[in-house]
Amino acid sequence: MKSDQLKPCPFCGGEAYLGESWDKTKNIQCTVCGCSTVHFKNKLDAVECWNQRVLPEEKDCTEN
Ligand SMILES: [Zn+2]
Repeated sequence: MKSDQLKPCPFCGGEAYLGESWDKTKNIQCTVCGCSTVHFKNKLDAVECWNQRVLPEEKDCTEN
């Protein structure tokens, strides 16, 4: 089982995907409701944050 497997969105159950910013930082976003984690330098940190559902912001989609 891959350690970077993404769990469904904690808010709506939607599918999550890995996003990458222009500065190469990564975050995990929901394809349905648009909620996301903050950006991390390390992809696995972003995945872990998402999977533990300790999202710093309940909805952090205003950034984009
Ligand atoms: Zn969602």
